[in-house]
Amino acid sequence: MSLIVAQNLTKIYNTEEVEVHALRGVDFTIEEGSFASFVGPSGSGKTTLLNLIGCLDKPTGGRLLVEGSDISSLGRKEGARFRGQNIGYIFQNFNLIPVLTAFENVEYPLVMVQNRPVSERQDRVAGLLAAVGMADQKGKFPDQLSGGQKQRVAIARALVTNPKLVLADEPTANLDHDAAYGIIRLMEKMKDDLRTTFIFSTHDTRIIGEVEIVYTLEDGRLTGQQISGGKVHE
Ligand code: ADP
Ligand code: MG
Repeated sequence: MSLIVAQNLTKIYNTEEVEVHALRGVDFTIEEGSFASFVGPSGSGKTTLLNLIGCLDKPTGGRLLVEGSDISSLGRKEGARFRGQNIGYIFQNFNLIPVLTAFENVEYPLVMVQNRPVSERQDRVAGLLAAVGMADQKGKFPDQLSGGQKQRVAIARALVTNPKLVLADEPTANLDHDAAYGIIRLMEKMKDDLRTTFIFSTHDTRIIGEVEIVYTLEDGRLTGQQISGGKVHE
């Protein structure tokens, strides 16, 4: 069974003046353990699509199946539970909690969602912060960090629960070459070791070169699907 199936998925935002057709009937399938990306210009619907998959918003029409069940029919609470148990979300604007340190931000999902024992939790947080190169910044608050550093904390927070599915909205946009490749390698290792599924939205050719499936979005429509075998070298 495919992990995710979208059938004629639509999303219309109703603003005061106009209806915005953000997704105009999108069909795709993503298998478990995939490294997939949606690419397309700003405004093409990438964030909207990730928000629907992440149960942060509901489609206007069509179906969105995760492991065979239609997540668009979940209520708010069920949606939040589903997200907490299955999904790591890397937000485009990071969404770090300003009153928590980098360490506490990464620890937060382990406390709130998984309620793991303290020592296990702290080892896991320390390991993830080291993996994203932020171990020495762990006591800093978000407003003391650069954009790239915040992005790395947001990535560590999304991965710390070993989620089944990671949704990553332009996750390397603020990272330099070495940091971006470090993150991509970390994600590839999770995919290989744990069969974690990654869905990116990106403009970043460094990611596009590494993913297996690229879906192109333009003005709310899927206009291309490219499956790549080989990897692009650094
Ligand atoms: P992308 O992530 O590819 O830049 P988005 O999914 O953010 O695209 O946006 C797709 C379209 O939907 C754009 O026209 C955007 O302005 C519009 N849009 C996104 N979110 C909202 C919202 N909450 N209310 C109204 N329009 C929105
Ligand atoms: Mg976006």
